[in-house]
Amino acid sequence: MHVDVPAKVHAIYDEVLRRNPGEEEFHQAVREVLDSLAVVLDRHSEYAEMKTIERICEPERQIIFRVPWQDDRGEVQINRGFRVEFNSALGPYKGGLRFHPSVNLGIVKFLGFEQIFKNALTGMPIGGGKGGSDFDPKGRSDAEVMRFCQSFMTELYRHLGEYTDVPAGDIGVGAREIGYLFGQYKRITNRYESGVLTGKGLGWGGALVRTEATGYGAAFFAEAMMTVRGETFEGKRVVISGSGNVAVYGIEKVHSLGGTVVACSDSSGYVVDEDGIDLEVLKQVKERERGRISDYADRVASAEFVEGGSVWDVPCEVAVPSATQNELDDDAATVLARNGCRYVIEGANMPTTPSAVKVFRDAGVAFAPGKAANAGGVATSALEMQQNASRDRWTFEHSEARLAEIMRDIHTRCHETAEEYGSPGDLVLGANVAGFLQVAEAVHAHGLI
Ligand code: NDP
Repeated sequence: MHVDVPAKVHAIYDEVLRRNPGEEEFHQAVREVLDSLAVVLDRHSEYAEMKTIERICEPERQIIFRVPWQDDRGEVQINRGFRVEFNSALGPYKGGLRFHPSVNLGIVKFLGFEQIFKNALTGMPIGGGKGGSDFDPKGRSDAEVMRFCQSFMTELYRHLGEYTDVPAGDIGVGAREIGYLFGQYKRITNRYESGVLTGKGLGWGGALVRTEATGYGAAFFAEAMMTVRGETFEGKRVVISGSGNVAVYGIEKVHSLGGTVVACSDSSGYVVDEDGIDLEVLKQVKERERGRISDYADRVASAEFVEGGSVWDVPCEVAVPSATQNELDDDAATVLARNGCRYVIEGANMPTTPSAVKVFRDAGVAFAPGKAANAGGVATSALEMQQNASRDRWTFEHSEARLAEIMRDIHTRCHETAEEYGSPGDLVLGANVAGFLQVAEAVHAHGLI
């Protein structure tokens, strides 16, 4: 069968737009993958015949539910819960839960879609999914967060299972929330099913290195990019946005690899610390006190807090956007490139806008997409599932060595695929094509389902 590939790709995208009106982030994520897939259809007409791309763009199942709960003043609150079970060709749906007021169906679908290819790149047997709620944990007491999580799980539990769907954390969902969610799941099902959630506490089924995995993994990925260019982190000036889970452990690993992180941020602004971010103070402020990044500057003499403002104004050689989607636009990219930035590694999911990616490409900045560079978190979640299934527990060193190996493998796979498909150095194309091929082969093998 002859396929007019550009027309076919165009038609797929038009159909996604028509079917999913208003879901801009989802459109953006699909577009970014489709832009890489023409070279695949050129070689694999069977994927055009069997509408494999079209099937992957359509979630297998989307669940939307009401989450009623009562706040500390006795007032009834109503939030909306989501779980998008996107693709199970490679294994049970796997992907985090995000609690943030900005969460809507389009955001969950963009994250779930990305997750399919990311999970494929890890080489682990996990499908793609994502979920969350427009609940804002900020400023809520532990008791309120617990009541919300219990109500959320009271609906979601029926869709989960260690062989069905295995959520984890994401923005606004850390160890505390996973604990409450797991407790309610156990209570409702009367099953101690460790493998149903990842990111669990270390004393009750959690895995060492899961907390650190995404940030560490992004740093390992960056190191692999530098190795190809005969460089290391030694002496490099680094800026990491955000100050959550990914950012904190990204900073930790960059420092241990010889780089210096001079700035990080939250949604209120950023801090610059020319001495390098003091990780102990940062952890105290953000992890233990759940405070603001400005509190860091109040405690560290060498630090300055800039309210509002863009953290990307701070000159650096390596930038690691690790807060949220579309946080780095073309203006910020232009400033970064002009200030001598040579590496951009996405710690967050889709933090760089398409036009900013183009600025980096034109300026010769080495760029790593999130679905490859931040895959360390989900890869370590799969290692947690492996330990749960075998009732085993690995050491920190062993788990970290596995993570480092997985990240180097992902880099090699993206790098080699980009070369094989005629775009050497283009890790965006390499990640999209390598991830897609793995999923497509399984989708194809399972027949028309
Ligand atoms: P956290 O909730 O721990 O931290 C998020 C950080 O980003 C906070 O500093 C937060 O600041 C900031 N942030 C969030 N939303 C915004 C916004 N709209 N504008 C500005 N700053 C914002 O989340 P994670 O560190 O877990 O996740 C960060 C990113 O990494 C997300 O894109 C997530 O999907 C991705 N990711 C996370 C993984 C993980 O294992 N945790 C795995 C793979 C990807 P504030 O507190 O002020 O809101």
